[in-house]
Amino acid sequence: MDSFIQIVFLIFICALFESEATCPNIISREEWGAIRPTEKHLFLVRPVPFVVIHHSDTLGCNTTQQCKERIKKLQLQNMSILGSHLHDIRYHFMIGGDGNIYQGRGWDNKGAHVKTYNSRSIGISVMGHYENEPPSAAQMEALENLLKCGVQTKKIAPDYRLIAHRQANSQRNCPGEALFELIKKMHHWDPTLK
Ligand SMILES: [Zn+2]
Repeated sequence: MDSFIQIVFLIFICALFESEATCPNIISREEWGAIRPTEKHLFLVRPVPFVVIHHSDTLGCNTTQQCKERIKKLQLQNMSILGSHLHDIRYHFMIGGDGNIYQGRGWDNKGAHVKTYNSRSIGISVMGHYENEPPSAAQMEALENLLKCGVQTKKIAPDYRLIAHRQANSQRNCPGEALFELIKKMHHWDPTLK
């Protein structure tokens, strides 16, 4: 019986390391100084079938300190200052110019990033404005790693459909032409949505 318990324990430890090894480091809300959301609503559909890519349409950031400040400001703008009155920062994750991933609402809570898809998508924002210049290779790699992690941890469907914000709302040019071109080359990109 003792050795049975040891084997179960070993399997548990291996599984733990395996799941950690496949997910990139994510800078927590505490680390970037987030304020608490005023409300939270869990996704009802799991795993979510869509991922929507945005740019923040703000200045980009090059250092971790600068990224934390920009994201903090973005959260305040989303929640009140400019009249958005959202419950929290609008996105699930943000990717900084420092190549780091920052946690927004996280995998489990509904976002407020594109009206018709909020209840069935994870919204990821690349910090900056990408109309003319694309994000860095490090940012795109972080995005790919985050998506893999989402599938492996069963937060997003294995056959998820990846779209740009502009495909869900034709009045927006988000995430900028240069980033949109890169999204079109990604494996899960869905060209059927205009
Ligand atoms: Zn957008």
